[in-house]
Amino acid sequence: MDSKYQLIEKIGEGGFGVVYKCRERATNKTVAMKRIIFIDQDEGVPSSVIREISLLQELNHGNIIRLLEVINNWAGVDLIFEYLDLDLSKFIASYPEVAKDRQKIKGFLSQILCGVAYCHSHKILHRDLKPDNLLIDGSNSVVKIADFGLARAFGVPLRNYTGKVATLAYKAPELLLGANYSTPVDMWSVGCIFAEMVTGQPLFQAQSEFNVLMEIFRMFGVPTEATWPGVTSLYVYITKMIAFPTIVTRNLATEATGVGAVGLDLLSKMLILDPSRRITASDALQHAYFRN
Ligand code: AMP
Repeated sequence: MDSKYQLIEKIGEGGFGVVYKCRERATNKTVAMKRIIFIDQDEGVPSSVIREISLLQELNHGNIIRLLEVINNWAGVDLIFEYLDLDLSKFIASYPEVAKDRQKIKGFLSQILCGVAYCHSHKILHRDLKPDNLLIDGSNSVVKIADFGLARAFGVPLRNYTGKVATLAYKAPELLLGANYSTPVDMWSVGCIFAEMVTGQPLFQAQSEFNVLMEIFRMFGVPTEATWPGVTSLYVYITKMIAFPTIVTRNLATEATGVGAVGLDLLSKMLILDPSRRITASDALQHAYFRN
């Protein structure tokens, strides 16, 4: 590896590379290195990757992980990020009382929304927001979104590192139905993360895309032309929804009671099936939930 950084330990494995904790030799600073290896070595760095990385280098926001440096190596690229000690899934697991700490949840949610609003205003989608991608600086409760934009650049995995199935619980219904999608996909994920902070459990947990969709429809009902114009012409809808009618058996208000009435109003606006009616990140930040 590049001698500028000393590898300390492996800290994670994502769909597109292995993440290491490293020490910058000159400054003794701890950084995170994501090592991405390209399958097709003859092709060089794909242009989409170069484009996305230069975009990420321009992102400069307190709630987005900072990409510090990009180093080409013999087999791919090493992306050097600032290092944060915890992610939200580990935080929820190690601090279950967060579910009862409304101020903490509010603080985390507003920071996530600030980061998402900033990226959406720069035309960057995340597409894979989940607690593992939200890093926390434990000393001052700052949340930073990691992996932003990489999902788009590396839309087709360059190499299957772990064989791990991507987390489905936070996927928006339009993604699961194979529809066109845009920034609302991230707001659906933020809604799922909001609910999970409140309850301590993923809201829509299932083993397959279809079963996640079923869980969503058990809560909100199967969409119709009246509730989501255009939905009935989607391929998955036509082939599966008609064969497997779902009955509403779940209720957001009773499952997420801890969120409070105003919080529930915001959560319900993030979890609207029709993406065109779902609240945007900047509108969510103006919601009454954040007013005190
Ligand atoms: P990713 O491929 O970005 O999803 O990273 C996989 C895991 O590595 C995450 O869930 C984190 O636990 C860890 N990780 C990623 N980036 C960082 C970072 N900048 N600082 C600390 N840990 C990180």
